[in-house]
Amino acid sequence: TVVTRFAPSPTGFLHIGGARTALFNWLYARHHKGIFHLRIEDTDRVRSTDAAIEAIIDGLKWLGLGWDGDITYQFARAPRHAEVALQMLEAGKAYRCYCSPEELDEMRKAAQAAGKPMKYDGRWRDRDPKDAPAGVKPVIRLKAPQIGETIVVDGVQGEVRVANEQLDDMVLLRSDGTPTYMLSVVVDDHDMGITHVIRGDDHLTNTFRQRQIYDSMGWEAPHFSHIPLIHGPDGAKLSKRHGALGVEAYRDMGYLPIALRNYLLRLGWGHGDDEIISTEQAIEWFELSGIGRSPSRFDFAKLDNLNGHYMRQSDDGELAKAVADRLGKASDASGIALLTRAMPGLKSRAKNLKELAENSAFYLQARPLPFTDKAKAILSAPETVGLMPKLIEAYAGADTWAAAPLEEKARTFAESNGVKLGAAAQPLRAALTGSTQSPPIFEVMEILGKDEAMARLKDAPL
Ligand code: GLU
Repeated sequence: TVVTRFAPSPTGFLHIGGARTALFNWLYARHHKGIFHLRIEDTDRVRSTDAAIEAIIDGLKWLGLGWDGDITYQFARAPRHAEVALQMLEAGKAYRCYCSPEELDEMRKAAQAAGKPMKYDGRWRDRDPKDAPAGVKPVIRLKAPQIGETIVVDGVQGEVRVANEQLDDMVLLRSDGTPTYMLSVVVDDHDMGITHVIRGDDHLTNTFRQRQIYDSMGWEAPHFSHIPLIHGPDGAKLSKRHGALGVEAYRDMGYLPIALRNYLLRLGWGHGDDEIISTEQAIEWFELSGIGRSPSRFDFAKLDNLNGHYMRQSDDGELAKAVADRLGKASDASGIALLTRAMPGLKSRAKNLKELAENSAFYLQARPLPFTDKAKAILSAPETVGLMPKLIEAYAGADTWAAAPLEEKARTFAESNGVKLGAAAQPLRAALTGSTQSPPIFEVMEILGKDEAMARLKDAPL
């Protein structure tokens, strides 16, 4: 079976790149009817926070990316990681290094002077531990291969290789007995039975070192796929303004999880020219071969388009609930019922739930309504002041309160008063909604119902 994992470090929110990584791992597992694990890599005790763990969990749940089994917390597994380091030591695959900080500093400086990256020179690799200076706590280093190459066949990048000469003997266990990140990741992936690792290509260079640990332990390495990072619309590193935000920011902006899933899927993965891909369809289609090799560019306009599409497809009752929630009226049952009826006219006009809520607010607004300046100007115009009382009277006598007859009434009224339909409709809109923009006004009138509509008309500040 395929076993994947999402392994975020809880040092910040679940950002959009992490969410995409999670989605790809989730889809790959679901496609193969496999298992998707969540592992919190909380070994950085200073930067890891409970708030970040919560944000990651909430974000994944909101996105609908459920994981299988319990969450693995990496820090709690430190004793197991240390145990593996000691096993390697025992087996002669690792060694104790007693280098002092000064010695390492010298190596660093020498490398710098030569314009090369720091490389530990392996001076304790074959040295007799009896030479160990007293009182120095050693680190444990991998006895890495010094000749040949380390090769990774990556699902996205193809075959990538590095000369072993370029990699030094990495530290596995620090002198205080804590495991390094490199060791922890390998031991966890091995123990969790991970078969496929899909992650950002900023981890590609780590993969060579991780591969050396697998080889040294005689463990089978998972299949790796490194996805190109997400860039901004200008091709530069993704900035906050261009979308480098936490998932909760997208929720607050009013994007639907289904739209964000579709968008993230298309951000770096493709299936022909398909843009609108349902989650079911994505599960059926998701293959590693669809992952692109070049960085994708974040594009809010595309996300808005997808979100609009999914909003129009959404159930009216569900949208009404989401809107009521945003308006602080989650428990207003009759308000939700009213919004549900109004939703077909509202949802076609909004890009996201935030806009939808703003456009819907007038329906649930208690009287007296707030009025925009434009609405006030229309209501206080001399023409309106002359017409409005007669218009109110005409509607007071209406017996069928439905959009078509209500519109018919306005037409007849306009004709007999020698004005255009707009001269009646505009003040109606201003009085009923408080603004000059709304769904078709006779539809609004019908949905408000006769009592409320008449009360609003009588309330209007002429
Ligand atoms: N914890 C790492 C990160 O947040 C991911 C490590 C991995 O996927 O192997 O970037």
